[in-house]
Amino acid sequence: MASAELIRKLEATIENIPDFPIPGIQFKDICPIFLQPKLYEEVIADLADFSRGKVDAVCGIESRGYLFGIAIAVALDVPFVLIRKAGKLPPPFISESYDLEYGSATIEMKTGHLQEGQRVLIHDDLLATGGTTEAAAKLVAKQGAIPKQFSFLIDLKDLNGQDRLKKFDADIYAVLKY
Ligand code: AMP
Repeated sequence: MASAELIRKLEATIENIPDFPIPGIQFKDICPIFLQPKLYEEVIADLADFSRGKVDAVCGIESRGYLFGIAIAVALDVPFVLIRKAGKLPPPFISESYDLEYGSATIEMKTGHLQEGQRVLIHDDLLATGGTTEAAAKLVAKQGAIPKQFSFLIDLKDLNGQDRLKKFDADIYAVLKY
């Protein structure tokens, strides 16, 4: 669990950009965290503590899920597997499509990089509606691995993204809730 001090520092660092990229969205810009290496280290330590001893692999969702996901995997000494937007991975890979507010999106993952029965942490920077993370968990389950944990830097809790993840019976952690 993040200390009150870490939460205070992150709240002072993450920028809220109203009406970006479209009117009505409060965009959370996490980039200023990377200007403060010590703060970044504290975030990784907190996220790694949540998963230590509980997972065998980490999956990060493109692209901001990589910024913390790889460092979490290194801290835990477990493999990291990329979940990419459609069209970026060479074969062999599997795909999962999900609905957006308008239209749909597809994410992909290499086959053979996760092993059957592995307990997996799925990490992204931010949980909004949960559609992306739900699709990522389906990719993990399709390969016989177990979506065991979800972690985020930020949970926009009014959007109830956690409700879409309940079916996986996994632990969920967000450093910050807005
Ligand atoms: P969702 O599938 O609705 O949970 O959306 C999650 C993805 O969209 C994450 O990869 C976030 O990086 C991005 N995202 C959604 N809403 C925001 C927001 N308000 N600020 C920053 N990123 C967002």
